[in-house]
Amino acid sequence: SAKDMSKFAFQFEKAYINGQWVDADNKATIAVTNPATGELIGTVPNMGATETRRAIEAANKALPGWRSKTAKERARILRNWFDLIMKNQDALAQLMTAEQGKPLAESKGEIAYGASFIEWFGEEAKRLYGETIPGHASDKRLIVIKQAIGVCAAITPWNFPSAMITRKVGPALAAGCTIVLKPASQTPFSALALCQLAEEAGIPPGVFSCVTGSATAIGGELSSNPIVKKLSFTGSTEIGKLLLAQCATTVKKVSMELGGNAPFIVFDDADIDLAVAGTIISKYRNAGQTCVCANRIMVQDSIYDIFVEKFAKAVSALKVGSGVEAGTVIGPLIDERALLKVEEQVNDAVKKGGKVVLGGKRHALGGSFYEPTVVSGATRDMLAFREETFGPLAPIFKFSSEAEAIEMANDTPFGLAAYFYSQNIGRIWRVAEALEYGMVGINEGLISNEVAPFGGVKESGLGREGSQHGIEDYLEMKYLCMGGI
Ligand code: ADP
Repeated sequence: SAKDMSKFAFQFEKAYINGQWVDADNKATIAVTNPATGELIGTVPNMGATETRRAIEAANKALPGWRSKTAKERARILRNWFDLIMKNQDALAQLMTAEQGKPLAESKGEIAYGASFIEWFGEEAKRLYGETIPGHASDKRLIVIKQAIGVCAAITPWNFPSAMITRKVGPALAAGCTIVLKPASQTPFSALALCQLAEEAGIPPGVFSCVTGSATAIGGELSSNPIVKKLSFTGSTEIGKLLLAQCATTVKKVSMELGGNAPFIVFDDADIDLAVAGTIISKYRNAGQTCVCANRIMVQDSIYDIFVEKFAKAVSALKVGSGVEAGTVIGPLIDERALLKVEEQVNDAVKKGGKVVLGGKRHALGGSFYEPTVVSGATRDMLAFREETFGPLAPIFKFSSEAEAIEMANDTPFGLAAYFYSQNIGRIWRVAEALEYGMVGINEGLISNEVAPFGGVKESGLGREGSQHGIEDYLEMKYLCMGGI
């Protein structure tokens, strides 16, 4: 209930604009529920374009002061923010599990992962070097400097309620930009808790605002207002394309982290037990609701049966339950719509000849719980081959040659993460180079961290987040040509 949330001691049920905790102009609210219980947690303001415009104008007003601080001063404040997040890791994790459903251990992990972007980019800010270029004429000197883009906007999803925010806000603030966030309506409390800690850390009013409410109204304003110079979005490819089109009218810079359809390939020369463990982590983290989750598990014919047997055995040991219960590995799906999508893909697979080895139906716990499911004999005509599942279904496809595996893996408009297991060094290089993906896990099922560039190719996105490259998305380079020397 709403009262129980007070134990987290964060400011709730108001949006955060220009350093103020505010309601919607018309006092309208939206409900936030716990996906494990269906219980109402609380409400947040249902804001629209007017409030968003106010946040953008405040960000514009705050920009000169923030941008003109030294990188070291900004880094100091970001470090405060990082420390406060880590100090409150347990409370933030409980809040996340309450609104998102993931197991508490995963929530704790995400808080640390999310905070790491703030620490990393604060440190990177001090090393945003420019260039000097040997001139094209003896009386000229050529220089490149890097400057903050200006006012930015971020739209983030519910599957990582904290880390998808810090991965954008961290580099934006480190670079000297100001930013307006629209968090997912399913998980706004994690976002507002970050705002509260940002305020405490000394981030000035207007530098980071959070507007809750209507996705179309807020998203429409963020993507069309000429003050906003850059939009960073993480979510579905469908909405990403819409936002790209909206941003085209004012030629905004964009970063897009969109959908994936990750192949997870196990070659006959792989360490099978390692591959089984990697598949479990990649497939079932966050109940399958990540854009880098294994979507299509492809196993070479000679080891197919033994892999399916070992994998199903490992999956059957995964405990399903509420995220707050000790030992839970798989929580509920975010909502009924997510459940229906998994159900549709499982039914489609069965209709087309797939064999349910494990699971295959809604979980006895009810609500949006679904049984971890393994389907063997998966084929290319199935929905699960074409579409991102975003749920606990593991379809296992069979291939016979390396060339066939690569061709199958690339047979999709998506190109975010791919994984493969092999012990053959020649094959490892050939396959790594042939996969049309932005990220490749090799004998590894978990690849996200703050020091590496996260992002996709093809219809999976534009730009990279994390790493030394992630901050470049928030910088413009300016070329200075000095003559008459
Ligand atoms: P999902 O289906 O995983 O929820 P979406 O792409 O629909 O992914 O949502 C990701 C984020 O985009 C959320 O914050 C959501 O509120 C926002 N969003 C959804 N529709 C729009 C839209 N038309 N304009 C702007 N943002 C949107």
